[in-house]
Formats: sequence, C-alpha cells, structure tokens
Amino acid sequence: MRRVLPGVTAASGMALGRARLEQPARFTIDPTPLAENEIEAEIARLERALDTAQTELTELRGKLHGALAREVGEFIDAHSLLLHDAELINGLRDLIRKGRYRAGAALKMQRDRLVAVFDAMDDPYFRSRREDVDHVIARVQSALARQASSEERKLASRVGEILVTESIAPGELAHLSGHGVLGVVATGGSTYSHSAILARSMRLPMLVGVRDALTDLRDGDLVLIDAERGEAVVHPTAQDLTRYRNWQRDTAREGKRLARLARAPTQTADGCELRLYVNAELPGEITQARALGASGIGLYRTEFLFLKRDRLPDEEEQFCAYRDAVLGMGGLPVTIRTLDLGADKADGTGLALAAEPNPALGVRGVRLSLRRPAIFAMQLRAILRAACYGPVRILVPMVTDAGELAAVRTLIEHCARDLRTEGHEIPDQFEIGAMVEVPAAAIGVRALLSVSDFLAIGTNDLAQYVLATDRNNDSLGQLYDPLHPALLRLLARVIRAGARANKPVSLCGEIGGDPRFAPLLVALGLTDFSMHPGRILNMRDALARCNRNALRALAPELLKAKSREEVAELLKTA
Ligand code: PEP
Ligand code: MG
Repeated sequence: MRRVLPGVTAASGMALGRARLEQPARFTIDPTPLAENEIEAEIARLERALDTAQTELTELRGKLHGALAREVGEFIDAHSLLLHDAELINGLRDLIRKGRYRAGAALKMQRDRLVAVFDAMDDPYFRSRREDVDHVIARVQSALARQASSEERKLASRVGEILVTESIAPGELAHLSGHGVLGVVATGGSTYSHSAILARSMRLPMLVGVRDALTDLRDGDLVLIDAERGEAVVHPTAQDLTRYRNWQRDTAREGKRLARLARAPTQTADGCELRLYVNAELPGEITQARALGASGIGLYRTEFLFLKRDRLPDEEEQFCAYRDAVLGMGGLPVTIRTLDLGADKADGTGLALAAEPNPALGVRGVRLSLRRPAIFAMQLRAILRAACYGPVRILVPMVTDAGELAAVRTLIEHCARDLRTEGHEIPDQFEIGAMVEVPAAAIGVRALLSVSDFLAIGTNDLAQYVLATDRNNDSLGQLYDPLHPALLRLLARVIRAGARANKPVSLCGEIGGDPRFAPLLVALGLTDFSMHPGRILNMRDALARCNRNALRALAPELLKAKSREEVAELLKTA
C-alpha cells in the first residue's frame, strides 16, 4: 500500500528505485571490565582498528577523480583529521587503560560525549558536525568488529537503488553514486552536512530526517524520492509515476535547452560578449571543454602529476601531459599553472618538504618553486616544449609581489635559451601571468601588472586570506563569504586595473562558475570566467539573463555596500 514518509530536502530532484536498507551498525558492546593483563592487547586492537579506518579513508580518496576529488577529498581529510585528533585518541586510551573499558565501549563513550557537545550547540551548522563524529567512530567500530564496512557498502553498489540509511559519509556518497545509487533517504542527517552539500553538487536527490524510513521500509520496496516536495513515496501509484515522468520530461527539456547552449555564444542579454574557460586537469575535462564551446583552458592545475607518488614526474612525463592538453584544445589557449603545493600536500610527492606550523601561509606555490629551481626548471622546460603545439600561457600561483614574477620570467628565459641550444623549437614569446590570491597582490595589482601579461583571480584563496578564514575549516562556515564587501572591493580593483592596463583578467575560483554570482561578477566588470566544465552551460545560461549595462551602473553602489545583505538587495534591483 502507498505510504508517504515526510522528510527534509537536502538535494532536490526525483529518483525511483528499489530500497536498499543499510541498518546502522549496532555494535554489541561487552561491558565486562578488562583484566590488568588484557589492557595492552586491547589498546593494540584499538590502534589496529584506527589504522584500518585510516587505510579505508585513504583508499576512498584514491578512488576519486577530477573535480569531485577536490570537493570530496576535503571531507575525507576532515575525517582523517578527526581520526588523529589527540583528544579523541588519548581519551580512548585513558578509558581503556584507566577505566578498564573494552575498545568498543570506550568508542561508544567517546562518541556519546562528543555528540552531546555538538547537540548542545545552537547553531544548526555546528550541530550537523556531529554526523562527522558519528561516521568516523562508526568506521572504527566497524573495523574493530572486523565488519568490513566498505565491503557492505559495495553490496549496495547496484544500479537503480535508493539507499536508505541513518546517514552517509561524503566519500561513500561519491563512491555509491558512481556505482548506480540514484538517491538517498537518510533517517538522520542535516541539510548542512557535508554529504548534503555534495549531493547537491552531484545532483543526487537526497532527503534527510525521514525518521521512520529504516523501520517502515523493507529491502527491495519500490521507493520514489520526491525531493521537490520533501517526501519519499513507498509503493508509488500510477499517479505518482506520472508525476515522476513529468518531472523527468521537464528536467530533460531543461537539459536539452542547456545542451543547445553548448553551441551558443556567451553573451549577456544586452549583447556583450564574454568568455568562459575551463578549469581542468584530466583528459576528460579537456574533451568536455571543447564540446561545451569553452574559449580555452583558464586553469590547468598541474598538482595531479605530483600527487600520490613517491618520485617526481620527470620532464618527459610532464611534457607529454601538457602537450596532450594543448593538442586536445585544438588551437585554443591553455593556461598551465605551475606547481601549487605546500607542506600540507607534500606527503607522497617525492618533494620531501619540512612540516610547517602554518602551511597555507608557508612555502607554497611560487615560493616553493623559487626555492627548488631544479624542479621548477624541469616543469618550465616541459611547459615550454608543449608550447610548440599550440597557444600556452604560464600561470604562477601564490604570487605576493612583482619581484617573484620577474624572477620566474628570468628563469623561463633561461630555460627557453637552453632548450633552443638543445635544438627544440620554442616560440619567441610567452604569456606569463600571476594568480591574484594573496591580498598583497590584489592591493599592489598595478606593480604586478607591470610584469604580467595577464592575471587570474583565485577567489578560493583570496577569500581565505582576506577574511582570515581557512577554506578547509568547515566550522567557520558563514565566515567564508565570497560576498563580503571587502572582497568585492578587491575584486573590482583588480578587474579595473587589468582593464586600464589592457591586460586580460580572468577569475578561476569556485564563484566564477556559480550562476548565483554571475550578476555580481558582471557588475564588477568581469568578462573572463574559468570554471569546472560541468558549470559552463549553467553559467552561460545565467549570464544570458544579465543586463551588463544595468549591472555595471550598479557597481558604485555595490562597492559602497556595508554588508552582504545590502549587496544581495542591490543585485535584486538590476
Ligand atoms: C583559487 O585559489 O581560487 C584557485 C583557483 O586555486 P586553487 O583552488 O587550486 O587553490
Ligand atoms: Mg589557489
């Protein structure tokens, strides 16, 4: 019989499939206290379970590719951090050693204690962080009980299923959606959770807070997730299915309308031409860039060549990767960014960097490259050689002052000379540009322009440095605000300076591909946007609705705004 289970929409859309129930791991906890001579063995058991949990997380991270890898990777890293949290681990050891609890009981006590702290918080965003604690502890519990939870999850990886669960960790969500799971019904969870954010960006319908789902549903029940209405329909009727088909038809129509935009020019409603570039690193993303009618690659991140390996990629390997990207773009410009790694990401790169207390403010990006001239020269030589196959621009990350870019230019000239002497055909001129992601670079933009051929604004980092808000620290939530008036003023300053110097300025941070920010960026005078390929069509669509003249006229008011709310209000008037 048809039943409707109400919930809260965490990611909109609809999905029809068979229920796959995943009961929360209810661990049988042995309450008998440990004998003195059992303590060390129990601690060793806990350590092994912690190691297994970490290995699982690392494996999960290794399976992610492309843009998703960045997004989900951050969530997985957050879980890894929690797994190594000194307070958590020491608390567990103390419970075992001093309290004589068995590892399972100690885990449960620590979990309950942490969850109580989160539950007591007023802020729903912080409250939602308790899910992370739950996921991490459940993973360790599962390792302890020798229940290979990842194996269980794999069983769920069957096409056409709706996962019904208490909650799900982001890495697993990404994995399951790649294996045919169509939607998620969670009994717990929150719309602020990492998984919810991720489900939205993957367009995977997700309901949270469907309290009775695990008791009301049986494995194999036909379930229609209607996240447009915020409900799950069990045993849907013909009428429900018609509603689903209509939704599918409308969504397909919208998809087709957007697909047609792949061949359309990018212009505003009042006919101003704009350029959309792609942020890419994988061959698939380069193919997509062309198919979507992008103007080129605005940001080719090269870190992937260096990560997850114990030796550095040599010149030949790098050259092949860069050349293939250039060939793949068939004559459109490819902006290759030199290595942007620091102490936080250097593990397993063969770079052997010393640990730093504050890697985001440490030796990263161009700072590292200039300190390792041999490694840098190898990369520059590979890029210069690839430049024989099509237009290449060299983009330098984390530039703080013009002197750094001048030093890079000198090094490039040396490399070019050497390559020519060795008989390589190297183009006469190269375009060399700086990322504007350090506030000093934005404030001193004129000096930077005097040594740059172009600029690319990296708002992901610029926002973190201007707002003194770690981009990876979820607990800072709303503080990481791309609409902050101070940030807008800096963006406007850089865009204006570029226009005056007649040098291209693009924006390649996440907001550059977010249709919600399209009117704002147009108002600030931006004409070149770079984004994940999956965002190109939506952005083209959003830009086509913008009236550039009206928005530009708003700019002086926007720049005087005192709050993000005022900015949002002003934009409504254009
Ligand atoms: C940025 O900082 O905005 C940017 C595009 O670079 P990344 O995200 O790679 O740091
Ligand atoms: Mg950056």
